[in-house]
Amino acid sequence: MPNVLLTSVFKPFAVDDGFGSRTINPAELYHNQVTREQGPFSLRLFHRSWGLMLLQHNVTSPCTVLDFPTRDRFIREISTRHYDVIGISGIVVNAGKVREMCGLARRHSPRSTVVVGGHVSAIPGLERLLDADHIARGEGVGWLREHLGEDPDAPIRHPRIRSSFGFRLMGLPISGGGSSATIIPSVGCPLGCNFCTTSAFFGGKGKIVVYLETAQQIFDAMADAERTLGVSSFFIMDENFLLFKKRALELLDLMKRHGKSWAFYVFSSANAIRQYDIEQLVDLGIEWIWLGLEGEASGYRKLNGTDTLALTRTLQAHGIAVLGSTIIGLEQHTPDNIDAHIDRAVAHDAAFHQFMLYTPMPGTELYRNMSSAGRLDPSVALADMHGQAGFNFHHPAITRAESKIFLDRAFRRDHDANGPSLYRLTRVMFDRWKRGRDHRDRRVRARVCREASEMRRGHTAALWAMEHYLEGTDRDTAARIRGLRREMERELGGVTASVSRTLGPVMLWSARRDMRRYPRGKPLEPRTFIDRPARATQRP
Ligand code: SF4
Repeated sequence: MPNVLLTSVFKPFAVDDGFGSRTINPAELYHNQVTREQGPFSLRLFHRSWGLMLLQHNVTSPCTVLDFPTRDRFIREISTRHYDVIGISGIVVNAGKVREMCGLARRHSPRSTVVVGGHVSAIPGLERLLDADHIARGEGVGWLREHLGEDPDAPIRHPRIRSSFGFRLMGLPISGGGSSATIIPSVGCPLGCNFCTTSAFFGGKGKIVVYLETAQQIFDAMADAERTLGVSSFFIMDENFLLFKKRALELLDLMKRHGKSWAFYVFSSANAIRQYDIEQLVDLGIEWIWLGLEGEASGYRKLNGTDTLALTRTLQAHGIAVLGSTIIGLEQHTPDNIDAHIDRAVAHDAAFHQFMLYTPMPGTELYRNMSSAGRLDPSVALADMHGQAGFNFHHPAITRAESKIFLDRAFRRDHDANGPSLYRLTRVMFDRWKRGRDHRDRRVRARVCREASEMRRGHTAALWAMEHYLEGTDRDTAARIRGLRREMERELGGVTASVSRTLGPVMLWSARRDMRRYPRGKPLEPRTFIDRPARATQRP
């Protein structure tokens, strides 16, 4: 059987280098594009390359995964072991690193077949930019199985994935960062918004690739993760999990039958959420929703007829935290109306808010349209096409330089008006507990009580630190945080108040020290993982 190596691109990521790394584009989802303007209260955590883990788990050939290697570590791996196939995965901004790794593979392991996959493969003409034997476009499990002579339609085995690692807050490592598991029921999204890379990559409008088709299969994957990883909350990596209502409600039935008080973090479009009664979402255990708000009058079908302000308010009042996602620089935006657009986004007071520039990415309908209209900006490197640096196209009213100014303004205004996301999230969690502690369903009561003990152990200490940190610069926010902390200490009782007063000052001291040393946030890199199969082969 062929021996396979699957690898992500090499680190470091949060530096400016000749391979396409950028200081402003760290490998951290939150610090990159959600909480980056929140100073020491930005959430710092990493996620594994889940696609590689899924691939490894679903081929019978011996397969090693190397995740976040250094360039030297990659060279060492391919020169000291023999691999018949070296698969390199990256996203569009990683094109320079993928090209370098293809070259290294040719030099240090000339007998290997080199395969490139992941979103980087959507770049038109990628074959001419680098030296690979194959470009695997779209869904990878079927492609790799077929390439290895295996059955592409064999059932999917779900890997056990901890959803994050390396969690840090206010300059301190925080335990419990990996306390949830990731489940991947399907990839792609049938709604096919014109800018959406994920939807386009897996077939576009009307298409998805399903890994776990039935509620029973999802339940089994979750029960397995619960048993082996000791988790009870799940990050559902499915672009629109709630769209499939029948499956979601069947899953709820299974959870009720087996007494599971699981918590879900999901992505969902507004039209999918509207299919449910709010109590169904609570029963299901939905605690966090990544919701595309895009922008008023954006014209996306998924938002038709939805008052997103009211929807966000209702969800959060019921203990479901919203991560709103807003696009800056839609076609109708101008320097005159952009502030109103930002203000409306900020008014959602979502627990988290991602702001992204309108960005035609290779592979999408938007990219094709911009390209045929001659509106792409050829001076923008692939490494800078990530929606946080500046436009990569010619906008009718906003320049590239202005786009970055407006984007940064949106992040700051959201933080100034609503306070740190950690405060907002804690407020939603506390509301969840207040509503759920006497809930008719024992499972819901068990879930919120479990979280109450987490809140007692550290959340009020974090509030204490935030409140004192902001006292000199933002008295209003400090007062709101203090009000929440005092109410929590009163209601949660026990050791809550003494934890605030002992742990809070330590967190405050650390937050101040971190900001003094690293005003833009400490540059962090993910650690390297090597997951070997039982029968990995030494080079003869
Ligand atoms: S709803 Fe979200 S995931 Fe689906 S196509 Fe639109 S942007 Fe992509």
